[in-house]
Order: sequence, then structure tokens, then C-alpha cells
Amino acid sequence: MNELINKIRQFVKERDWEQFHTPKNLAMALSIEAAEIMEHFQWKTAEESRELDEVTFSEVKDEIGDTFVYLLRLCDELGIDPIEAANNKMLKNAEKYPVEKAKGNAKKYTEF
Ligand SMILES: [Mg+2]
Repeated sequence: MNELINKIRQFVKERDWEQFHTPKNLAMALSIEAAEIMEHFQWKTAEESRELDEVTFSEVKDEIGDTFVYLLRLCDELGIDPIEAANNKMLKNAEKYPVEKAKGNAKKYTEF
């Protein structure tokens, strides 16, 4: 993970793009790239969304890459360890969504 973060940091530095990578801009870019993932699924049925053709699958994979890169850039700028953040959030989620209340339903924890 650190190797990837450093590779992205180097890519940005070589192009003198740090000036554009404010947390605000990175958060927006992240959201835009996530929307580009969604764009491939828009208007597809649930079934169709599971059976992507080769080209669409490859394009979705690229957008996932873009999204992850911006997420890591945002974490880097804010000094957040993404693995630690995800682990902490999973602990919180486990408390919010105990198996006995959440199993088999998609209710929000506020509806339990
Ligand atoms: Mg993209």
C-alpha cells in the first residue's frame, strides 16, 4: 500500500500537480470517478449488472483504479491511513449493525 501511495505521490510531483490537489479538489475528483463507475451500470437490470461484457468490465476496472488513486491521494493529503480508517469503521459498523438485528435485511441502523 505504501509503495502505491509513493508511486502516486511521485507521479503527481513530477507533473507539479500538488498545487491542484487540495482536499476539496481531491474529494470532488473522487466523487466524480465513483460516478464514472456508476455510469456503466446506469439503466442496467440487476442481472445485467452482474454480466458485463469484456469491454465494459475493463472500463469499470479502470474507473475503480481512478477512484482508488484519488482516495489514496486524499488520504495522503489529510494524513489519514486508509487501512486504519477502514478497520476503525468496520469496528463501528459491527457495533451499529449487530448480526441479530441486521442479518438478512438492508435497514439502516436507525430503523432497528
Ligand atoms: Mg475515470
